[in-house]
Parts: sequence; structure tokens; C-alpha cells
Amino acid sequence: MKIDYQVGIIGAGFGGLVAALRLQKEGNNSFVIFERAAEVGGTWRDNVYPGCACDVPSHLYSFADELNPNWSRAFSTQPEILEYIKAVVDKKGLRQHIRFNSDITSLKFVEEYGLWEVTDRNGTITHVKMVIAATGPLNRPNTPKFKGMELFEGKVFHSAEWDKSYDLRGKRVAVIGTGASSIQIVPNIAPIVEQLTVYQRTAAWVQMRPDHAFPSFMQGLFKTVPAVNTLYREMIYWRNEFFGKAFVGNNMINSIGSKLALRHLKKQVHDPETRKKLTPTYKMGCKRVLVSNDYYPAFNRPNVTLETTPIQEWTANGILTTDGKLHEFDAIILATGFVAAEIELYTTIIGLNNRDLLSEWRKKGAEAYHGTTVSGYPNLAFILGPNTGLGHTSVVHMMESQMNYISDYLKLLEKQGSNGYLDVKADLQDQHNQSLQDQFEGTVWQSGCQSWYLNHEGKNTTLYPRLTVQFRKELKHLDKSAYVVVG
Ligand code: NAP
Repeated sequence: MKIDYQVGIIGAGFGGLVAALRLQKEGNNSFVIFERAAEVGGTWRDNVYPGCACDVPSHLYSFADELNPNWSRAFSTQPEILEYIKAVVDKKGLRQHIRFNSDITSLKFVEEYGLWEVTDRNGTITHVKMVIAATGPLNRPNTPKFKGMELFEGKVFHSAEWDKSYDLRGKRVAVIGTGASSIQIVPNIAPIVEQLTVYQRTAAWVQMRPDHAFPSFMQGLFKTVPAVNTLYREMIYWRNEFFGKAFVGNNMINSIGSKLALRHLKKQVHDPETRKKLTPTYKMGCKRVLVSNDYYPAFNRPNVTLETTPIQEWTANGILTTDGKLHEFDAIILATGFVAAEIELYTTIIGLNNRDLLSEWRKKGAEAYHGTTVSGYPNLAFILGPNTGLGHTSVVHMMESQMNYISDYLKLLEKQGSNGYLDVKADLQDQHNQSLQDQFEGTVWQSGCQSWYLNHEGKNTTLYPRLTVQFRKELKHLDKSAYVVVG
């Protein structure tokens, strides 16, 4: 059995492109990128709701080798980020490597030949030596099942599946949820709708967003003196790492951050009753901290209401809350987030001895070795696999750390001949995960709140419990002794 490509990358979002850029940089052009949609961009292609923007500064949230001097703002909006991704893809000639509309449904490891059989929805089979799965942790919309949902006669859509053809102007609209997506949607639709009701289950911590436009002389400076761009990026990186300490046990920084957020709330919301409802009751960082300058002021508008009474059910005309009040709507927007901690990958992954990765992960929660490789599934690496998420800085940095490790992996694999494979040792993977879970002790994520970081058993399968400097150090090189090497 012959391979078609050395590497098969799944997904052409940030993760898949980080992988492709690295392979290309190292002169490895034997790779294909399978992309289920017709365009690159992943989450930045799919999320097109009004106000969609990144809450990590753009100079940091970008490819390390493809810095952009032209960012128009500190925190860029979705269209600009998508344009940047497309520009890098075109500049680096990556489109020729991408197989669009190729939705991978199954991966099967063929032990005899040490390769993966990759099958897409149309039944097309491709053989690759190694798979890099970069399907993204936040692309499966969480759509809660409310009683009577099917009875509602108005328009319903999820924030990640925004219907641009539906005109919200002059409509009575409900937004369910107050997470990162909701706080960007609410201030952007409030001025055009007739009435907006925001259903909040848990108040979020919201910090001021230090956003600003870049004057053209700054863009010119970033362009002509790239070192200034790099230095500026470094500065943001270290600032975020410093504030990240608030999440991993530094109570002083956490307490200062909490006070700043409460001051932001007090300054921005006039009505004391609304302010009280918007005041979080759990430790800052336990759920993702949000950044916004225009979310809170939306509640000063006469046409915006914050509803904290729980939803009982939906009716034909609207939403009935548990106090017996019926609120009538033309449209209901589900800003209810994503399924991240529960395993709902679309691809079946069959490893050694016919093991099925998804059913194993469903039983014990998603686990990997350094969030990247999994015992029993050789020659497979995940970009942003289990426990690689962050609450304080750019995930692109994590992806690039993973590619340091994967690059070493590929080099070692190449030396094993055509049928070779590398399989991480099960006991080391178990020890690693035990230590990872132990490291959550004393972090904000263990302070007792419900979030998308935790699975149904309360296990944190999504976040990395330390700062990103630590992750970069851990993944600087492949630790060969952790692998069974079959040559
Ligand atoms: P999210 O943070 O998970 O927020 C979901 C919201 O829906 C929460 O307020 C949640 O309430 C509420 N909710 C869920 N189920 C509900 C139910 N059955 N009844 C009532 N309320 C319900 O989702 P998101 O806002 O889409 O953001 C998800 C993640 O995507 C973020 O944390 C972030 O990592 C990423 N994101 C990033 C950006 C960016 O700027 N970079 C923008 C958007 C999203 P509870 O809090 O009570 O559970």
C-alpha cells in the first residue's frame, strides 16, 4: 500500500494553516489539507454575527512568521481576520494543497503499513503517513433543548450560524446567553431592533477592552521596521502572560482584576438593579473573562432588557419565564456557545487493534499526551487537542508550540522506514494526565462554577492549567523515550 502524501491535515482554519506553514517552511511539501467547507478560515469564516471580533489583540493573534503590519485596530473584527488568513494562504501558495468540500468522516490506521486511510463523505480514500487533526474545539454549536421550542413560529438561529438574510430591523428579539459571542452581538443589534431581551443565566466578568485604531504612521513603522512589530507583539504576549497569573493561583492579581471589572460595570451601567444583576458571583476567570466597552452601556438603552428569571418554555409567540410571564418575540438568537468538553467529533478514528478513539474518550473524557498525541493511535497528532485551551492569551501560540513537537515527531518517523510508526506509551500518557489534572488545584477553574471548560463529570478536558511559556517549554522537542518506535 502506497501513501499519497506524507501528511494529511484536517481543517484549513488557523490550526491547519499553522501546521501547513510549518511543514512548508521545513521544505516538506508532501501534504494535503482536507477542508469540509469551500473556503479557508475555520471559526473566522463561520462566525459572521454582527460585531464578531477577536478578544485577543491581533498583533498577537496571528501567525508568528506572517506578522501583519496593517492591522487597523488593536482588536480586529472578523472580516479583517478572515482577509488576513486568506492573504497568507494566497501569499504562501497554500491553496494548491487544499482539497475543499472534503469532509473527513473516517480515519483508519493500517498497522501493517504504518499509515492512515482517510475517507471523506464522498467515499474518496487518501493514504497518508501521518494525520494532523486541526478541526478546532469551538465549531459544534450548543443548541439547548428548551421545552416547546418546536412550537415557536418566529425565526431562530444560533450565533455561529447567523442568518444574514434575516432582517432584524424593527423586530422584537431575544438573545439567550451572555458569553463572548452574546456580548458582541447585543450592542451591535440593540440600535436597530425594536425591543431586545437578553436572557442571562450567569453574569459574566467583563473587562474594559483596550481597543484603538492604529494611525497610518504606526502601520508604516510596523512595515518598514519589522522589529518594532515583533517587539510590540512580544510586549502584548508578556503582558497577557502576567495577567494570566490571575487564573493560575495569584490571588492578588485576580483581586485587582476583579475590582477593575466591577469598576467598569459601575461606570457603565446606570440602573443599580440592572448593575446588581450583572454582577458576577463566582471567582473571576472560572468562566472565560469577557472584554467589551459597549456591552454594558447597551443596558442603558430603553429598548434593551436584561432578563434573569429562568426560561420555563418556548411558546408559539415567545418565551415563558418561570414567573409566569410571556415575552413575545419575532426572533430568538441562541448565543449559547459550543460543545467543547463533551466529545462530539464528526470523524470516526480507528487505531491499533481496532480501537475507537471517540468511544474511548466518551467513556473517560478526552485525554492526550501534551494535548497532541494519543496512545494506541500512532502517527496522529491533534492541534488544540484535549487540555490546550486558554483563558488569557492567543491559542495560535499554543498551536505553534505543538508544531515544534510535531515537527520533531515527523523527523523521527521518517527515519523508521516506510512501514514505521510512533506510539506514545499508555502509562506515560496516564501519568501526564494525572499530573495535568493535579495542576488545576488552586486555579480559578477549580473554584466551583459551571462552564464549557468542564465535561458532564466536572472534569476539565479543555484548558491547559498553566501559562503558555510552560507549554512552549514542554513541547520544545519530542521526548523520544515516551514513544514505542516501530521501524
Ligand atoms: P459561551 O461563552 O459558552 O456562552 C454561552 C452562554 O449561553 C452562557 O451565557 C450560558 O450561560 C448560556 N447558556 C447556555 N445554555 C443555556 C441554557 N440552556 N439556558 C440559558 N442560557 C444558556 O459561548 P460563546 O459566547 O459562543 O463563546 C464560546 C467561546 O468561544 C468563548 O469562551 C471564546 O473562547 C470563544 N469566542 C471567542 C471570541 C473572541 O472574541 N475571540 C468571540 C466569541 C467566542 P451560563 O454561563 O449560565 O452557562
